[in-house]
Amino acid sequence: MSVLAVADLHKSFGGVRAVSGVSFAVAPGEMLALIGPNGAGKSTCFNMLNGQLRPDGGRIALDGQDITGLAPRRVWRRGVGRTFQITATFASMTVRENVQVALLSHHRRIWRFWQPTSALFAAEADALLDQVGMEAQADRAAGVLAYGDLKRLELAVALANAPRLLLMDEPTAGMAPAERVALMQLTRDLTRRQHIAVLFTEHDMDVVFGVADRILVLNRGELIAEGDAAAIRADARVRAVYLGS
Ligand code: ADP
Ligand code: MG
Repeated sequence: MSVLAVADLHKSFGGVRAVSGVSFAVAPGEMLALIGPNGAGKSTCFNMLNGQLRPDGGRIALDGQDITGLAPRRVWRRGVGRTFQITATFASMTVRENVQVALLSHHRRIWRFWQPTSALFAAEADALLDQVGMEAQADRAAGVLAYGDLKRLELAVALANAPRLLLMDEPTAGMAPAERVALMQLTRDLTRRQHIAVLFTEHDMDVVFGVADRILVLNRGELIAEGDAAAIRADARVRAVYLGS
């Protein structure tokens, strides 16, 4: 069964049809790229999937259960994780503490009373940091990390919630090209192993063609193509509207 199944999704803003009749599914462990020119409706899709925007029409199902219109917190509790374009870490806390807080939240512990010296979930946090190659930086303040390291910390924080589906809207924005592919290859390796489905948007076509299992192309709110890298590269309509050649 699909992790995510989207059927006939619609969203308009005033007279603008931002998303119009979009349907697709993501399988466990699959990495699906959603691409398209600026204004195509990618972020609007993401915001409906994570509950921030209520669709005008259509259905969103997670593991076969309808989650359409649920509030963001409920969607997150069902297992839809998200990494942010603007990094969402606590700058003054250490790298390990950021992951500990994410784990506490996932396990529904009240972290208001949490002390920085707490050992709660410290071992689990270190295991996650090990997975993203950040174990050597566990005791550093998150605020002093290099941008690429911050992105890997964000990935560890997202994985702490044990998501079924991970939504990444332009995860590599602001990164150097070589770092972009590395971050997304790491994401692919970790999510595939845990059968987590990933849906991401990305402007760098080297990243898209390099890591995506499948690619969806959105233009003016409508899906115009779907396939693997070879199929998308060869698609005349995609070349015309998106790649501009
Ligand atoms: P993308 O992420 O692919 O660049 P968006 O989903 O951000 O595209 O935008 C799709 C269309 O919807 C654009 O025409 C954009 O101007 C419009 N849009 C997006 N969000 C809003 C909003 N909150 N209010 C009005 N129009 C919006
Ligand atoms: Mg966008």
